[in-house]
Amino acid sequence: MAYGYYLREKGEDFSAVRRGECPRCHKRCIEVDDERGGGCGPRWVSYRCGCCGWSGAFSIEKECGV
Ligand SMILES: [Zn+2]
Repeated sequence: MAYGYYLREKGEDFSAVRRGECPRCHKRCIEVDDERGGGCGPRWVSYRCGCCGWSGAFSIEKECGV
């Protein structure tokens, strides 16, 4: 299940990024590069590492007026 593995990888990257830590070089150089979306539905946030140049985007699900 390549797809499931991919998601798990992303999840691990994302938890590092949320701690402000780069998933590649493990230094605390993470900056928010771009943020789009808002309101209802998923939000895309791209992050960048100022130390090694890593970048990645994550979609963050947002719950909406249940
Ligand atoms: Zn880095």
